[in-house]
Amino acid sequence: MKVGFAEVDITPPLGSEVPGGFGKAYSQDVHDRLHVKAAVFENDGIRVALVGVDALSLKASTVGAGRKIAGDLAGMPPGHVMVAATHTHEGGPTVDWAGGIELFSGSPNFGLVKRLLDTAVVADKNYISFLSRQIGSAVALADKRKVEARCAVGVGKEQSVSFNRRFKMKDGRQATHPGKGNPDILGPAGPIDPDVGVLSAWGLDGKFLGCVVNFACHCTTGPPGTSADWPYYLDKTVRGAMGGNPTVVFLNGACGDVTQVDNMSTREPEFGEKWARRVGQKVGAEVLKVIADAEPGELRPLGAAQEIINLETRKVPPDRLRSAHELIESDPKADYRWYFARDAILLNERNRFEPSVPCEIQAIQIGPVVFVSNPAELFCQLGLEIKAASNFPYTFVVELANGCVGYVPTEEAMGPRGGGYEVRMGMHSKLVPSAGRKIVEASIELLRKLNPGVKPEAPKAAAGRPWNFGDVGPEEV
Ligand SMILES: [Zn+2]
Repeated sequence: MKVGFAEVDITPPLGSEVPGGFGKAYSQDVHDRLHVKAAVFENDGIRVALVGVDALSLKASTVGAGRKIAGDLAGMPPGHVMVAATHTHEGGPTVDWAGGIELFSGSPNFGLVKRLLDTAVVADKNYISFLSRQIGSAVALADKRKVEARCAVGVGKEQSVSFNRRFKMKDGRQATHPGKGNPDILGPAGPIDPDVGVLSAWGLDGKFLGCVVNFACHCTTGPPGTSADWPYYLDKTVRGAMGGNPTVVFLNGACGDVTQVDNMSTREPEFGEKWARRVGQKVGAEVLKVIADAEPGELRPLGAAQEIINLETRKVPPDRLRSAHELIESDPKADYRWYFARDAILLNERNRFEPSVPCEIQAIQIGPVVFVSNPAELFCQLGLEIKAASNFPYTFVVELANGCVGYVPTEEAMGPRGGGYEVRMGMHSKLVPSAGRKIVEASIELLRKLNPGVKPEAPKAAAGRPWNFGDVGPEEV
């Protein structure tokens, strides 16, 4: 088999809009450079590509254009290329909060929509067209740089850096980030996924070429300036230990409700340089343990499958819409409710033109390991359900791939005993409660279309005994 890696720079100019909050923010410094990192695998005439982009999220159109360029430059079939955002909250201007002003050109309330959109994050057209070119370039370069290689796959556990951020509270509801040491917390409302999935590639001379890493945790530590967030330190940790110039492609797992913040602990808030390093180094150290156990071999078969499902959007109730229109005339900075009011109006307007959204489910298989993706900020529980039902020895769930449909919570979280930020109706959470179940079902169905390969094992011991000095009888002492 052959494997190639490439990474290209996508650091935006200073002053670029930084998406990640409800309002406007602009970059003022560069902590570390942003990249598109690609890995291309080939065996038995089939090629597949896994691509990680240091971005909060990606528009499906940006990925589509990037796939087209990868096709033009390297003949890669678009359905064989998976492109996922790492979800760094210090990335470039890739996000149109409500889908872009063009969508609303036929709205009878266009003036109001424009005024509201002017307060929300907006993508930079030049940047996203550059990003598409860099996605295509990274895939084409990785393809061009392929060498004969062997691959290993494994899973480690890191349980100490990620935390479910939603809690069951004493009042019977659920809340997101209720505050450190809040005495009304009963316990977490959802799980974490401690799996650190690693697919590593090795040259025939034994040289480490690079790896693809899958772990579920929001990239919200926020070191100062533009940054890949904690995966920057994951990259540094693996490079430092392995030497040479390997590429570490990071694909985030189902982390819709999982972050580095430990609400159950009263220690300092887990933000900034120190915590970016701590999370990245600990995940990186676990990656190194998996790499130490590597038994590289030929992985086959390679394969890819794709399905587009349509997910219905939530309809804004009339009384909610009325109160949103009242609130929207007040001061935006006065209350977070202003942003939810804005989003209720935008969602309602958007529903005129797009009452459902396309959602690409994709699976890419490299022998015994399958990467199965969706464009959601998927709740951890839903990712675990996909893993549990998978017929593959190794299943790595990838979120925010090939587009973005916002948060997809569990039905329980969206039910009468639920609550919290991720389920609050708005542009960040615009899908009906059944969306999660549909993504899980479509993912499992897709996996069934692929035939899992076998994991390479260590060679067996040779027949006979290598050492005969251990069983000397007492009469011979
Ligand atoms: Zn998020």
